[in-house]
Amino acid sequence: MNQTAFSTLNMMHPDLLNNLSTLGYETMTPIQAASLPAILAGSDVIAQGKTGSGKTAAFALGLLNKLTVEDVQVQSLVLCPTRELADQVSKEIRRLARSIPNIKVLTLCGGVSIRPQIDSLKYGAHIIVGTPGRIEDHLKRQTLALNNVNTVVLDEADRMLDMGFKDAINAIVDQTPKKRQTLLLSATFPDQIKAIAKRIMNNPVMVQVESTHDSDSIEQHFYKVDNQQAGITALRLLLLAYRPESTVIFCNTKQETQEITDDLKNHGFSALALNGDLEQRDRDQTLVRFANRSSSILVATDVAARGLDIDALDAVINFYIPHDPEIYIHRIGRTGRAGSKGLALTIYAQNEYKMTMLSDYIGHNINSESLPPLSTLDGKAMKPPMATLQISGGKKDKVRPGDILGALTGEHGIAGNQVGKINIFDNQAYVAVSRDVAKIALKKLTDGKLKGRSFRVRMVWDWPA
Ligand code: AMP
Repeated sequence: MNQTAFSTLNMMHPDLLNNLSTLGYETMTPIQAASLPAILAGSDVIAQGKTGSGKTAAFALGLLNKLTVEDVQVQSLVLCPTRELADQVSKEIRRLARSIPNIKVLTLCGGVSIRPQIDSLKYGAHIIVGTPGRIEDHLKRQTLALNNVNTVVLDEADRMLDMGFKDAINAIVDQTPKKRQTLLLSATFPDQIKAIAKRIMNNPVMVQVESTHDSDSIEQHFYKVDNQQAGITALRLLLLAYRPESTVIFCNTKQETQEITDDLKNHGFSALALNGDLEQRDRDQTLVRFANRSSSILVATDVAARGLDIDALDAVINFYIPHDPEIYIHRIGRTGRAGSKGLALTIYAQNEYKMTMLSDYIGHNINSESLPPLSTLDGKAMKPPMATLQISGGKKDKVRPGDILGALTGEHGIAGNQVGKINIFDNQAYVAVSRDVAKIALKKLTDGKLKGRSFRVRMVWDWPA
């Protein structure tokens, strides 16, 4: 028998199996084949899965398989970053549950009135799918009880953390029974995910279907230049030729970070300098704007880049070789999104003794390649996909990610997938939105209220318009 046939899953209820074939699901997708046996056996599972991988069915079949229809209480809770995803997940769960009569799936998301949700909750539901901010609201109002939940799912966990939902997730999970199954799906595994998994999961089984990057999957190129000015021109040539969406340029001195940033800005790039001279507030803002993709280039020293919580850069560029080969390896290890190749470009000065040290360390000769033709400089600098809005209220004003998300995506608002990272500090907050809806988003936030109050909102511009 085909090993990836759903029918090999002997722990799955026959009704669910029969329905799968009516849906045309015959064989399992790789993520389903890798995770379903563990999920059906009741283990906690961390799975790497993106939209399109079949991840929804993987967790949905798990929670449906142990559902007791007669018990009309919330038995499963699925947390999603946006309303669009929550709607999609609810739809898929309903399709998979067609063979079991009377299963109630309720979607609870922000951006719409809470009253009708409260009314629906009075009739009871088996499965709740929603966004963390709104679920937390219901818990505070005691309109939702989670004490009978047996399965908690965090879908697109990395994106939920990006949007600032860490505290909300922890608060919600703390209201579910300790004895439960927890499933976590995420496209990437930054340290924040590991930390939350450690807190809320019990001996999780790790399922990875795509190969992630290692140093073999990083494309490395080296370019020799005659002097500093030629080096700076080489930077622009490489940026225009490769056009990476997010790049860190590593320099060895503070002064270089400033010179390079100024040169790039003068040539129309969105670049920010990160060095030890920045005040805390400017440093926070710089990291926020780079991480939320509203600035595409960060020019940093190694020390200053330590706080950078990004391990999926499109490219790392070394502006001259670091004094220690280990630093080189550490720098380039930050490039490469899951499943795609990383790019490490190194510009070096002639006869650098560090070259010899580095080639010994990485175990092969380093050959200088020729730079892209000078005509490349005629090209236009790439634009970052997002814009940052700064809000003059933060934690001290009790502003939460859900409030901002709700204000942006509420009636006549922008779509949830046009909202990027949300960062909340003590006295201010930042939200990234798609550049093409930035003006509408700015107006929505300026005209609307957060926590019943109006705040000042401004667009943070980062490069010559
Ligand atoms: P997802 O990655 O969960 O968003 O799912 C992607 C799409 O694949 C959805 O439209 C599912 O209905 C469909 N799908 C999921 N699992 C299977 C399967 N084993 N066979 C065929 N289609 C599937």
